[in-house]
Amino acid sequence: MRETATRFFMVPDDQDQPKEMPVNENQNGGKEKLVQQEDLYDVVIVGGGPGGLTAGLYAMRAALKSVLIEKGLPGGQIAISDSVENYPGFESISGFELSDKFFQHAGSYDLEVLQEEVTSVDPGLEHHSVTLRTGRVIKTHAVVLATGGSPRELEIPGEKEYYGKGVSYCATCDGFFFRGKTVVVVGGGDTAVEEALYLSKIAEKVYLVHRRDALRASRILQQRAMNECKIEILWNTVALEVKADEHGVCAVTLENVQSGEQRDLPVDGVFIFVGFIPNNSLVPQGIKMNADGYVVTDEKCETSISGIFAVGDLREKYARQIVIAAADGCTAALAGAHYVEVRKGGETVCAMPVSPA
Ligand code: NAP
Repeated sequence: MRETATRFFMVPDDQDQPKEMPVNENQNGGKEKLVQQEDLYDVVIVGGGPGGLTAGLYAMRAALKSVLIEKGLPGGQIAISDSVENYPGFESISGFELSDKFFQHAGSYDLEVLQEEVTSVDPGLEHHSVTLRTGRVIKTHAVVLATGGSPRELEIPGEKEYYGKGVSYCATCDGFFFRGKTVVVVGGGDTAVEEALYLSKIAEKVYLVHRRDALRASRILQQRAMNECKIEILWNTVALEVKADEHGVCAVTLENVQSGEQRDLPVDGVFIFVGFIPNNSLVPQGIKMNADGYVVTDEKCETSISGIFAVGDLREKYARQIVIAAADGCTAALAGAHYVEVRKGGETVCAMPVSPA
């Protein structure tokens, strides 16, 4: 039978103490808390999108004691994408299927996955702490933040009120309800155009409302949208208000930003894809972020606090693509493995901010 001796690690202060942890007197008469080895992870990954799942896969391959925590279903934003056509190796695959493949692949290495909500990530001198909604505190050497982003809102009257009654941020989820109807898509990026194309297969008419005279989306998507007769692009136009009657959304008020002309366009649904904002509420104080709230990292995806990494859409970068989120996950896990190895080898690694935020 394998020996099951318990090893202990020193932790510095009261906040670092997990439940029912033994407490010993140290030589200086002060109390030191001891973290049982089985409570201590090498890496905790927060978020189960492509970045988090790839980090999990590489962490397991590096024999790190790892856990991935995701409050929803694994897959992140891509799980609700209709079709992904630029992930190498797959000419076309649904977002759900691709995210499932990520999940199954990480699972094949027995990655532990908890479906729980993380309420805080707290840097510590010896170990970092990840607290769950349940109150459980998980100690870890390294943390990978992979919390992604959420759809940005237009913040116009009627948007919040009629969300779910004709206003949507997900064509794959809600497009079905608009079969044979008229919808408006707001935005000019890849997401807006992709979703407009998806909706054109279902709806009778799709208006694509964009605030400028040129789309931000990739050329190939632009061409497809322009070739789709069900899509009509309304250039230099912004949405001012969503209106509804007793059946739900019935119109959107538009303004031409050049002429100033306003009109009510009768529609049954309003799909809003005007970018997204990083989910940075769990980013601990002291970690450097840019003006838009994206976490600034070095080339190892390490933040300004040692042992805390950020990957995917949360991280400041040139392009936000699935393949890049996956690459980030790989980088963070490999760098994390080195970090953990150094710590376990007894070398001192500064666990506090390297540079002030
Ligand atoms: P995005 O590229 O940031 O585009 C947002 C669009 O919304 C822009 O056209 C922007 O207009 C418009 N917009 C922003 N705020 C607005 C406002 N208040 N009122 C009206 N319009 C507003 O966001 P995204 O399309 O969600 O894409 C995010 C990232 O994911 C991008 O890097 C994109 O390439 C990537 N992505 C890739 C794929 C793919 O490769 N298959 C699919 C989806 C997303 P302006 O152009 O005038 O700024």
